[in-house]
Amino acid sequence: MTAYSIWLLEYAYTESCPMGTLVYGKHNEGSAKVPFGYVLIKGPDTTILVDCGYDNRAHGEVLGRKSGARRWYPPRAVLAECGLKPEHVDHVVITHAHYDHMGGMRFFTNATFYLQEAELSEWISTISLPRSFDWLMSATDPADVMYAAELAAEKRLVLVRGDLEDFVPGLDLRLAADSHTAGSQYCVVRNDGLHNSKDAYVCAGDLVYVHENLHGGTPEDPKYIPIGYAMGSQRNLLLASEAMMQIVAKDYKRILAVHEEKMFSLYPSTTTKTGLRIAEIALRNGQSSLVA
Ligand SMILES: [Zn+2]
Repeated sequence: MTAYSIWLLEYAYTESCPMGTLVYGKHNEGSAKVPFGYVLIKGPDTTILVDCGYDNRAHGEVLGRKSGARRWYPPRAVLAECGLKPEHVDHVVITHAHYDHMGGMRFFTNATFYLQEAELSEWISTISLPRSFDWLMSATDPADVMYAAELAAEKRLVLVRGDLEDFVPGLDLRLAADSHTAGSQYCVVRNDGLHNSKDAYVCAGDLVYVHENLHGGTPEDPKYIPIGYAMGSQRNLLLASEAMMQIVAKDYKRILAVHEEKMFSLYPSTTTKTGLRIAEIALRNGQSSLVA
């Protein structure tokens, strides 16, 4: 039984991400094309998005331009390629509060959002720091943090404390504290519905930028190498990598990394009329392919 269809949807990309950002220590190895994306998970009655992109206006536009983002499309255009509208999304998991994962919240007017309590409180603390700490804000839009607090007051934001099993059936949230950010979380899809799943995927947020973070370039003798852009502990990033790899029985291809260009060659994929790509990770019975 395959409970959910899963797609990775590209909504923009940059052609100039420094390798040293993607993989710690690759300081003199040039730059790479890096997609920006989110993961769409669709069951018979429920539509879930893991992360939601950003809004290419105001400070979101400034941060996108700094990243070299190109061909940005809003969720309405990206989801239209899947026959969906933003209003159809029931649940949005925010893995962490960086602008390119969280800044699109306003587009999803019917969704309930899930963010770690430690993530929100730490960013409220961080936006209060003196200007000399601005590096910590290099990928965070203060307006997104404030909007998350507004959603909390509207009872549309679930502030998760630690791990949360079955927030919808078969989907779990796991906290990776003090790693990429203070309260990064990843989302596990147990696609056979079993607790000891043999068909699990992990939506990794930015705990992994590229699969090289999981194998160090030698999948046959894997060595974890952290991402090059962490607000927290590199050691905790490696421990989170190990925890995620245990969930997928060490099959790194099941770690869904939205910034990994290779996702579109590891899985069947297509380029839509926007010039952006869709990777088809899993299809439930009766769901027709988006890439055939
Ligand atoms: Zn990030």
